Amino acid sequence: MPKKDPKEIKLNGVGASPGICIGRAYLVDKKGVDVVEKYVIDEDRLQDEIKRFKAAVKKTRDKLREIIKDTPEKLRQQAYILETHMLLLKDKMLYGKTIKTIKKERVNAEWSLRKVVANIKSMFQNMSDPYLRERAADIDHISDRIMRNLVGAEQVNIGDINQRVILVAHSLSPAETSQIQRERVKGFVTDRGGKASHTGIIARALEIPAVLGLDNVTGMIQNDDLIIIDGTAGIVVINPREKTLIKFEERQSRYEEYKAVIIQSSHLPAETVDGFHMQVMGNIELPEEAVSVHSYGGDGIGLYRTEFQYLSRTDFPGEHELFDKYKDVIEVMTPKPVTIRTLDINGDKALAQTSDFDEPNPALGLRGIRYCLKKTDVFKTQLKAILRAAVFGNVRIMFPMITTYEEICETKKILDEAADCLEKEGVTFNRDIKVGILIEVPSAVIMADLMAKEVDFFSIGTNDLIQYSMAIDRGNRQVAHLFQPLDPAILRMIKHVADVAKDKGIKIFICGEMAGYPIHIPILLGIGIDELSMNPQSIPAVKSVIRSLNVNDARLFMNDIFKQTTATKVFELLRDNYGNILTDKLYDTK
Ligand code: PEP
Ligand code: MG
Repeated sequence: MPKKDPKEIKLNGVGASPGICIGRAYLVDKKGVDVVEKYVIDEDRLQDEIKRFKAAVKKTRDKLREIIKDTPEKLRQQAYILETHMLLLKDKMLYGKTIKTIKKERVNAEWSLRKVVANIKSMFQNMSDPYLRERAADIDHISDRIMRNLVGAEQVNIGDINQRVILVAHSLSPAETSQIQRERVKGFVTDRGGKASHTGIIARALEIPAVLGLDNVTGMIQNDDLIIIDGTAGIVVINPREKTLIKFEERQSRYEEYKAVIIQSSHLPAETVDGFHMQVMGNIELPEEAVSVHSYGGDGIGLYRTEFQYLSRTDFPGEHELFDKYKDVIEVMTPKPVTIRTLDINGDKALAQTSDFDEPNPALGLRGIRYCLKKTDVFKTQLKAILRAAVFGNVRIMFPMITTYEEICETKKILDEAADCLEKEGVTFNRDIKVGILIEVPSAVIMADLMAKEVDFFSIGTNDLIQYSMAIDRGNRQVAHLFQPLDPAILRMIKHVADVAKDKGIKIFICGEMAGYPIHIPILLGIGIDELSMNPQSIPAVKSVIRSLNVNDARLFMNDIFKQTTATKVFELLRDNYGNILTDKLYDTK
């Protein structure tokens, strides 16, 4: 029941993990570590103060070790983030400088730590490299832990929560998120964080609803408040009125029922009523997500974002390490295809190793294939690992951020060199694999007819295609209203590329987020896309929608679609014609 007369508040944030949950708020605040007192330490007590600091660090290290050890198998891959935090504990800048400050300034450990952390953070935050800027958050997480141990502040141990609650936090660190037990925690909301944050990645792996980036949700929710999270729509409702509660309860049960029904049929082929078979594939970031693609009935992996194995570390993974990971994924999926996208770093996914590049405009910088063509040793290592792993199943290779024709030629040359190298080494490999490119830059759209001659398939990366053609940063909330997959400009580009692919006899796929939304499917089907790839959880809904459509009707429908002048008009036309079968009704936020 809602509280007697509390004001209902509705907030919009980043829907980081889909689903709806309703429950009581459990605040994970930072009380006890925000206000730090400063006091002078007598000369003869300085060693004791240093010992006290060292003990707090040791306690932090022991706790982290325990968390890493207890990390469930499914989240093993994320444990590397915690290993990074362990390294920070030994860091000279943090550990050594705090001890020095205690000695030199004869002040208490809390004050010294706070001062040192503030200095390190301002250094990181002023760096132009976005990866290093983000590391300021890691410093925060780790120094908070040490501080809690110093002041003896009661730390909310997420792993110990024994009620069914919704966590409300300023920012949940990856360590904290990985402690979440699905049977206890229904979902979580945070002030900080975005869809691509580590926290968001873990929420999706846990399959619990999460809304992040709400700015000040911790200031608006009290412990025990009733709250609703709609992780699909990115909505949080605090103290819902009876009417709202009923609406979301209905939506939740419709969602659950619907999910159960579509999952039952998700292993059936995505075949339209008139017999067209669409391939529905999954996008993965981490090797273990391949299992989800399987269980949600995916026909293969349409996008394996390999860069996640390169982030959060200071060295590059070697050929053997990469080979092992790729082989695991390929073996899980075989005989279904696995599309391995080569390293697409920089832009919003900067490498620790690239801090030497000063890029004022990273989205327009040395990203994706541009980086690989410059760092050919790193690129060749990855290509060799892919060619070797390709022996174990059905592998395709895909190159990101292709902007010019020369880039394709150069890339293929390096692929040949990688194969020659393996040949010389006498290592078993498979060179007979399909080669494709992502179409995600407008120049590639317009050059598609010439580029088609060089490759076996195109995969349209709508996330970047929208970013680069509408001139909007995909992560900037100020221009988010322009991020419209249904904008006629985007639809025209997709249609052009699809028509060219058909004309040249190559396959045409879509692996941007757009492919995972049922409402877009009649258009993608009508345009003639051969294969869609999406977040694994979206596969059952998309397959189910495809099974209720008629491809010939969808093709005819395109005549009306391409007369529309705005994204809103396209949406309205879709709703009027296909509203009865679209599952988006479930996510209706009105
Ligand atoms: C895209 O740009 O649409 C895409 C699939 O790649 P990413 O989101 O990884 O940039
Ligand atoms: Mg992209």
